[in-house]
Amino acid sequence: MSYQTRVLQSGECEVTQWFGGKSNHRGLDIVGKGHTIDNVVAHSKGNVIKAVTGYSKGSGEGAWWRYGNHVIIEHDNASCTLYAHLQSTDLKVGQQIDKAHLIGRMGTSGNANGIHLHFELWKINNYNSNIDPAPYLNAPYGVDLPSIINYYPKTPYIGISIADGLKAIGVDSSYLNRLKIANINGINGYNGTANQNIQMLELLKQGKLIKQ
Ligand SMILES: [Zn+2]
Repeated sequence: MSYQTRVLQSGECEVTQWFGGKSNHRGLDIVGKGHTIDNVVAHSKGNVIKAVTGYSKGSGEGAWWRYGNHVIIEHDNASCTLYAHLQSTDLKVGQQIDKAHLIGRMGTSGNANGIHLHFELWKINNYNSNIDPAPYLNAPYGVDLPSIINYYPKTPYIGISIADGLKAIGVDSSYLNRLKIANINGINGYNGTANQNIQMLELLKQGKLIKQ
C-alpha cells in the first residue's frame, strides 16, 4: 500500500517499518512506491542543523553511526525532522532550505540492510522528543506539525543572571516562576543553584528557553 508523502521527490512511498513496536523504532522506514529508490526532500522549510556525509553501509559518525549519512532540519515551529541512511548529501549546516528542497538520494549508510529512508520527527531539537511521524508524512507545514513550544526571545536582556535576564524581557523573575520555567526546560529539582541558573541563562541567550 502506498501513501502520499512530502519527504520523497515522487510524492509517494511505502512504509516498511512503522514507529514504535518491539524494536521501539524511532521513526518510519520508507521506500518509494513499488519499493523503488527515490530522492529524499525536505518535509518543510527550515534551517539545516546537522549534515553528515561520506559514510557507506555499516559505517557512520561516532555515537550516531547507525544513522549513517544524515540531515536534521529545524523548522520555524521548533520541530525537527531527521533523514537517515542517505547515499550522500550536499547540504551544509546553517543552510536555509524550502519545503521539497533536495536532501539526497536514499541509501544504506549506517545501520541499514536495504536501501530506504529512516525518517524521524522531533517536537523540539532534542533526541528524546521524537514522536510518530506517520500523521505528518503528508501534512501541510504549520497546520498539522506539532507546534506546542514557544521560546523566550534572545534579546533584549541585561545582566549576568537569569533573574536579570527575565526581568529585562518583562517576565516574572520570582523564585516560583523560575521553578516553573526550570521544570518546563528539563532542569530537574530546581533550587536556585548557580549552575541551574547558568543553564537557564544560556538557553535564554540562545533563544531556546521554553515558555510553555
Ligand atoms: Zn528506521
